[in-house]
Amino acid sequence: MATKLENLISDIKELLPHPVTDENLDLGVEQVDLGIEELVNELCEGNPLFNKIPHKGVRLIGGDPSEVVAFVTEEVINFSQFALVWTHPHIPTLKPIPIASIQWRNLRKPERQQIFTTLVETISKRRRKLYRICQYCERLMPPEWLFSDTICHSCAEKHLGVTF
Ligand SMILES: [Zn+2]
Repeated sequence: MATKLENLISDIKELLPHPVTDENLDLGVEQVDLGIEELVNELCEGNPLFNKIPHKGVRLIGGDPSEVVAFVTEEVINFSQFALVWTHPHIPTLKPIPIASIQWRNLRKPERQQIFTTLVETISKRRRKLYRICQYCERLMPPEWLFSDTICHSCAEKHLGVTF
């Protein structure tokens, strides 16, 4: 039988914009190149509501382009708006904008469905507001791939000779 956590994760997968990718994060045990502090910062930065440091959980990212990030642990679920920062000209790093942290165990399913639905809709609307259509390729582009309000990175390279 599925545990409460597994049930929650499959509910969240349904609620998030599709497609949804998931990834197990165990910040306590397996760390490749990020120090724990950096990783925790990446997940929780700047939000006083993130009172609990999540060490182990599942990170779900919904949407294509990505819109909403949910990090689910045994006790808490953190909802963030997807965002990337360019730490290197060609390597983007995930840097979600924290929106809400919820102690999900105390909520009954109908309550949490209602709260999560509202949050996911709000976050994805906020994210999509930042998208622009490129005047050359006419694709809808997220902010990380925009050179300006009207031109995407690859068209800036192709048509304007910009190098990144
Ligand atoms: Zn373009």
